[in-house]
Amino acid sequence: MLKMSGEALASPSAAEAIDGAVVERLAGDIVSACQELPLELAIVVGGGNIWRGTTGAAEGIDRATSDTMGMLGTVINALALQSAIERLGQPTRVLSAIHMQEVAEPYIRRRAVRHLEKGRVVIFAAGMGNPYFTTDTSAALRAAEIGAAMLLKGTHSGVDGVYSADPKLDATAERLDTVSFMEVVRRDLRVMDLTAVTFCKDNGLPVLVFDLLAEGALRRALAGEEIGTLIR
Ligand code: UDP
Repeated sequence: MLKMSGEALASPSAAEAIDGAVVERLAGDIVSACQELPLELAIVVGGGNIWRGTTGAAEGIDRATSDTMGMLGTVINALALQSAIERLGQPTRVLSAIHMQEVAEPYIRRRAVRHLEKGRVVIFAAGMGNPYFTTDTSAALRAAEIGAAMLLKGTHSGVDGVYSADPKLDATAERLDTVSFMEVVRRDLRVMDLTAVTFCKDNGLPVLVFDLLAEGALRRALAGEEIGTLIR
């Protein structure tokens, strides 16, 4: 299970919510990994490049409504990703947690597993369909539901793993090869939201944090090579 934040699809200056060249590059990495590795790959894409529930709520929009707007943003991203991946010849399916049958299949767990068995890349859209949650937590839930071996959390801000302190503020901060879920919580390491972290801990789902946009990183992460930080 690969979790990509919505911001990973934006242009480097964030002027465009979805940058065609960036999406094409990510799709290229995904398709070449699928062709070269014996993989069943599912993706959860976020929506932070388009809308965040908390931002809208701060501006006076009802929180549940604002979160629904965020979930719809993830559908837009999922379709952009689907289009780019399929242009490169890799079959995909978008499964949405909010029903919109003209656009995407509804999320049905067994159907997701079947698509994966048939070699399709499954893109989960609309988070888990419930407000007050994030797509990190959605990725953790879907990963557990489909029996994923691991959750790959691709970051987009140039941070290539979990550090002993904030590397932007502390020059002595070191990247950790592995770290326990308890340490992430105790030291407030903020790699994923806490609901997702505790869910992964409770369900024995290891998480690899790596730099999604670094050259070759996605392929290495999917190949199980040592990269980033493993949380377990
Ligand atoms: N969201 C939600 N329920 C979910 C998943 C997402 O309400 O199950 C909403 C929430 O408002 C969130 C927005 O969708 O702010 C976009 O998702 P997220 O912030 O996780 O995207 P990312 O940061 O990964 O781009």
